[in-house]
Amino acid sequence: MTRSQVYMDNHSTTRVDPRVVEAMLPCFDRDYGNAASRTHSFGWRAEEAVTRARVQIARVIGADPKEIVFTSGATESNNLAIFGAFEALRAKGDHVVTGATEHNAVLDPIGSLGSRGARVTVLPVDRQGRVDPDDVRKAITARTILVSLMFANNEVGTIHPVAEIGRICKEKGVLFHSDAAQAVGKIRVDVQAEGIDLLSMSAHKVYGPKGIGALYVRRKSPRVILEPILHGGGHERGLRSGTLNVPGIVGFGAALEIAAASMPEESRRLRDLRDRLHRGILERVADVRLNGHPTERLPHNLNLSFAYVEGEALLMALDDVAVSSGSACTSARKEPSHVLRAMGLSDDQAVTSIRFGLGRFNTQDEVDYVVDRVDGAVKRLRAISPLYSVARDGAGESTR
Ligand SMILES: *Cc1c(COP(=O)(O)O)cnc(C)c1O
Repeated sequence: MTRSQVYMDNHSTTRVDPRVVEAMLPCFDRDYGNAASRTHSFGWRAEEAVTRARVQIARVIGADPKEIVFTSGATESNNLAIFGAFEALRAKGDHVVTGATEHNAVLDPIGSLGSRGARVTVLPVDRQGRVDPDDVRKAITARTILVSLMFANNEVGTIHPVAEIGRICKEKGVLFHSDAAQAVGKIRVDVQAEGIDLLSMSAHKVYGPKGIGALYVRRKSPRVILEPILHGGGHERGLRSGTLNVPGIVGFGAALEIAAASMPEESRRLRDLRDRLHRGILERVADVRLNGHPTERLPHNLNLSFAYVEGEALLMALDDVAVSSGSACTSARKEPSHVLRAMGLSDDQAVTSIRFGLGRFNTQDEVDYVVDRVDGAVKRLRAISPLYSVARDGAGESTR
């Protein structure tokens, strides 16, 4: 039987929903105006479309449309939040707090703040990948200006206790930034309830187009001031100059509106599929361990370690299943995942991990097929693994 590739790498990116494509199409050949053009209807129509999208996006996170700043994606949003807050608050302090399992789009900009004179605290996580809110409290000093902790992790799906962290930051008068690229549109995110001052989002993680995202920037209690990193025409309240990507923005708005409307049903469906995948693998394959939090985890995430099997070899063996080991952004480097290492896995354990990311377009049929493929591939790889036969014989000896 021939079958096309099964796509189960929805943490790295998602297929654009056909309804989103539909919404974007008129922006290319009919309503192609520049949203900043004030002198004709092409511009007005583009601006109206952008305003509509701003409302759609703001509504999903409990924000005001004026608090949405469009960017090229979560990487840029993180950079704007981190450099922008640091430069604007230099007079107040120089200390930034983050977590060990952050995406590189947070760790790298914060790392480079060092050369600008910042002091950085990187908080550890527990075995399930969570930061302890008490550690956040203890890390904050009089010189702390920013805490940056992600909403949900892109490798193991662990959801941080954001509301508690937000409360602590508020209490201490420190800005709270959260990279929510994996959370928005998947689980409930509410910047008021969670006390978030800056929130990064990306369209291509929620069935929208690539190259568009947004940063939520709180406008009251407190009013957050950022130093822009791009200067030019003063678009987006001066925070992000550059002609607006109207088709992308329209697609992002449509994508989030769809995601919010379908969230209860879709998260239940994906959780069921994810659990079916997990159960199916556990029933047929021995020595598999779950990475991430058993319950405080994204409903579509499954990260497993297959003892004695190298993740890279397993990926290769699963040649018609698109999954990944670690994150797509670091898979160019052949190092064990910094996320899994921070969770206490050894290098040897970390390199045996595979991330399954289920999505809107996966079916039960595909899940069952992937169980079959994983079962076959792991058994084949273990059969030729000298480590596995030694371990198995060892176990056999001891129970004899
Ligand atoms: C994908 C991702 C990013 C990067 O987003 P882009 O829009 O591709 O720049 C940042 N953070 C997390 C947690 C992500 O999952």
